[in-house]
This record gives sequence, C-alpha cells and structure tokens, in this order.
Amino acid sequence: MTTPVPPDDCIFCKIVAGDLPAEVVHASDSSVAFKDLNPQAPTHFLVIPRSHYANAAELAVHEPSALADLFTTARDVAEEKGLEGYRAVFNTGAAAQQTVFHAHLHVLAGRELTWPPG
Ligand code: AMP
Ligand code: ZN
Repeated sequence: MTTPVPPDDCIFCKIVAGDLPAEVVHASDSSVAFKDLNPQAPTHFLVIPRSHYANAAELAVHEPSALADLFTTARDVAEEKGLEGYRAVFNTGAAAQQTVFHAHLHVLAGRELTWPPG
C-alpha cells in the first residue's frame, strides 16, 4: 500500500497529529472524530481517516477498511450520544462545497433534517 504524502498545510492532518486543537469525541486505530467548528446542527461532528486522502473515493481505493471505519465510528458516536438518527455526508469537490481536501464524513443530528438537502 502506498502511503499518501499530505500537503504541509493540511489542517486535518494537524488535528490527527495533535498539532491543532480539536474537541475529539472518539478515536479509533484509523479514524478520529471531532466536533465541527461551525456546526450546522445541534450535533455536528466530523470523522476523518488518520491517513491523508483528498476525498472519500480516494480513501476507498487505497484503504477501504479505513473508509468503513469512518461509518462504524459514526455509528459508535451516535450510540454513545443516544441519537435517534443522523445524516452522514461527504462533500466531494469544490462544486459540492468541499473546503478541506482531507476526506471527512460529516455527521449531523439533533434537528429536523429536510430532504432534498440544499
Ligand atoms: P467541507 O466544506 O465539507 O470541506 O467541510 C469542512 C468542515 O470542516 C467545515 O464544516 C468546517 O466548519 C470544518 N472545520 C474547518 N476547520 C476546522 C477545525 N479546525 N476544527 C473543526 N472543524 C473544522
Ligand atoms: Zn490531511
């Protein structure tokens, strides 16, 4: 397996390394979950792989088990928090409002979530 080389300025790599503070809610061997700085719902946390990939598809190609771990981590946190349900979202590409190019799963809950999303 090739280990990706992250850009020096990746803020999520810095959170994984402990060089940038974050409100961590869960950590596993391959993932870290922490509260989003700009929450869009009463519960809004991100689950990221410890390895740097630009998006979820790249993670799926290179480390499929780490992609799966994002979802099982989301489930574990949801169970710990007693959430009845949650929305799990990957924004992929700038046109879909991706702003941080280190794969991350948004997990949102705690309010009525409408469909279709905006
Ligand atoms: P996206 O727009 O899908 O790339 O999502 C990036 C998310 O990261 C946004 O919801 C931001 O509020 C969040 N974010 C950016 N920097 C930080 C940080 N240092 N700690 C926690 N969340 C962050
Ligand atoms: Zn990164």
